[in-house]
Amino acid sequence: MEKIAYLDNNATTCVAPEVFAVMEPFFREMYGNPSSMHAFGGRVAKFVKRAREEVAAFINCSPDEIVFTSCATESDNTAIFGAAEALGPGARIITTAVEHPAVLQPCRRLKARGADVLELPVDGVGQIDTDALREELKRSPNALVTAMWANNETGTVFPVEEIAAICREHGAVFHTDAVQAAGKARIDVSKVPVDMLSMSGHKFHAPKGIGILYVRKGAKFRPFMLGGHQESGRRAGTENVPYIVGLAKACELARLGMDRENVRIAALRDRLESGILAACPDVLVNGDRSHRLCNTLNVSFKYIEGEAIAYHLSDLGICISTGSACASGSLDPSHVIRAMGVPFVAVHGSVRFSLSRYTTDADIDYVLEKLPPVIANLRALSPFGPQSDPTTFK
Ligand code: PLP
Repeated sequence: MEKIAYLDNNATTCVAPEVFAVMEPFFREMYGNPSSMHAFGGRVAKFVKRAREEVAAFINCSPDEIVFTSCATESDNTAIFGAAEALGPGARIITTAVEHPAVLQPCRRLKARGADVLELPVDGVGQIDTDALREELKRSPNALVTAMWANNETGTVFPVEEIAAICREHGAVFHTDAVQAAGKARIDVSKVPVDMLSMSGHKFHAPKGIGILYVRKGAKFRPFMLGGHQESGRRAGTENVPYIVGLAKACELARLGMDRENVRIAALRDRLESGILAACPDVLVNGDRSHRLCNTLNVSFKYIEGEAIAYHLSDLGICISTGSACASGSLDPSHVIRAMGVPFVAVHGSVRFSLSRYTTDADIDYVLEKLPPVIANLRALSPFGPQSDPTTFK
């Protein structure tokens, strides 16, 4: 296979070999249903129990506060629709302008059904104003606040501890989408009083198709998937045993290796950042550089398109992503980058590099060798330049 420098780990990660190995027996000999009466199924149930304990250790909660789901989109939908139902028709929903669509779309659905939904704006580095949140909750404490732990596009880390404390003080329910934080930052729900928290296996070396919803004991919650009694009545559907076991292994690997690995990953990311800034003029770093995930670098190359950069790098075996979403046949700039008020000449040129524990020095060397000529060539063809309109895109 040709050379691949995979720097799109916020989109998905490879499955760790240790994870794949522990899953395999559950596709072969141990295929029983953990809810069955017989010992064949009961044997499998013991592995699910152990997996739940490992996942609980990952975020320092009790195993019975862990609900396995099919993905983080399901976890987010469950948390938001469930809390809204439990809080009743008058409840307010407060979120932020930079959430993942898995949070924004359920909130907007609730708004379409008549709920009072507020999307808090962010500043130039993607941070919310926590005083504004406090004021909103003073006015209407019967609320669900859903704010992400870390942003998938920029890596900006929200002050989750403070947000959680503000929600606690006013009696609001707090859900956080911690999909990008899991495995990249320590999550300890005994220290950060969140009511619900979403994670996704495929962002930290478990397979796609398995998610987690942490639900604090006593949290205002209603199940979203109705049917059987699985997950103590909080999520119906036969347990996806191989994926649950694999997810637990990924949690264990992250728990044990994260502190060491994240230092190495941050050093690689910083070398990539400084290398790009040294080799390419007219580059902006997007996000909060002092509160940022260790693995994420989002940069805007002024006067050119992120899609063109990603396309040319793809030809060279370099995988990155842009913040743009293809909507109704046109390429819209990322809602996150737009919400941050990134200048017009830079908003379309944003790209994200995201690293993992499998990223090597050689990957970074390769990107730093190949990227600058791609940028220079695209700029030579671009009708835009420093003379372009410097107005701010909002
Ligand atoms: N939330 C965030 C912040 C994400 O980055 C993603 C995936 O990109 C999701 C939610 C959705 O996760 P899943 O793919 O498990 O549905």
